[in-house]
Formats: sequence, C-alpha cells, structure tokens
Amino acid sequence: MTESTTPRLTVLAGPTAVGKGTVSQYIRENYPDVWFSVSATTRDPRPGEEEGVHYYFVSDEEFDSMVENRQMLEWAQVHNKYRYGTMKNMVTRALESGKHILLEIDLQGARQVRNSMPEARLIFLAPPSWEELVRRLVGRGTESAEEQQQRLDTAKIELAAEPEFDHTVVNDTVAQAAQEIIELMGLEKTSA
Ligand code: 5GP
Repeated sequence: MTESTTPRLTVLAGPTAVGKGTVSQYIRENYPDVWFSVSATTRDPRPGEEEGVHYYFVSDEEFDSMVENRQMLEWAQVHNKYRYGTMKNMVTRALESGKHILLEIDLQGARQVRNSMPEARLIFLAPPSWEELVRRLVGRGTESAEEQQQRLDTAKIELAAEPEFDHTVVNDTVAQAAQEIIELMGLEKTSA
C-alpha cells in the first residue's frame, strides 16, 4: 500500500477488561507519532484526569446538542451508563494534517466508524483466553459482583464481534500488543 492509500484512521476496540486502556496508555507514552482523539463524555472526571487531555467532560445537555448538531463521528452509551463520543472536527483536522489517528472506543462506536468511514482500519484487541479475561475483570476489583457479572455477559457478546474486524491483536503482554498495533498502523518504533 502507498502512503496515500494506507488508512490513517485506526480504531482499537475489544471486550471489556481486555486492557484497551493500558495498551493505549503504553502507545501514548512510547509512540509519539500516534495521535489520540480526545472524546467527549458525560461521566465525571476521575482523580488525575484533566479536561481536554483525557476527555472533554460535558453535561447531558451539551452531549445532546453535539449529537443533534451532527458533531459526532460516532458515539455510544457504554455499560448502560455514560455517553462517550468522538468529535468529527478533531478527527478531520488531524487527518488533514497528515496524522496517524488511533481511536480507542467501544464496539458500538467501532461499528459506526466502519459505516461512515469504510476505509478505517479496525483492530480487535483480544484476551489470550476467556479464563484470562475473567481473571482480569475480577482481578481489577473495581466493580461490584453484580456489575462484574453484567460485564462478563457483555464481554461474551463482544468477543463474538471479532470477525467484523480487519485484524486481531492478542493482548498477551502490553508491549507486544502495542508493537503489533503500531506495525498494523504502518508506523515504526520511534524513541519517545
Ligand atoms: P472510561 O470511562 O473507563 O474512560 O471508558 C469506558 C469505555 O468507554 C472504554 O471502553 C472506552 O473504550 C470507551 N470510550 C471512550 N471514549 C469513547 C468514544 O469516544 N466513543 C466510544 N464509542 N467509546 C468510547
């Protein structure tokens, strides 16, 4: 593929607790050529999260108006709770300036990007096994038992979506998964 035909928008999605956030964070820290879109969300900031860096934290009304005004490339309600969305203008601007974009979003969002931008590259981050996914989900210890069960049910449905994606990367170790994603994006390791 030539530079002009290589898709420069890559979506990274996968089941809950597979480690998408950790792999993304590793890429942020080690591969400065990758540009991350900052999503809008209706959830509150967690300690250490900054406005405009991790997310744009918006009210329900603000989110509604962004959707109504067609400002979202994709958006979804995640875990039946808060809404998250990628802003179209940020992605368009980054693409125009030649950046390689990585969107770390949920499965519903990945499907919307597939429909609106069929040239995008979709990567499915998979766990090494179902047992390992359960271990990671339970091991995180941040959710109640009921919430854990709900997330496991969701994860089963999410795992079945793998064939919809262009590539699968198994998250065995964070560094190796990140390296594979970078290679699929057509980028090489650069020193941070
Ligand atoms: P968290 O609240 O832990 O930061 O994120 C929860 C989930 O929301 C993660 O699975 C993440 O991939 C997803 N997410 C974050 N930003 C977006 C977005 O802009 N669109 C969609 N569809 N999902 C998102």
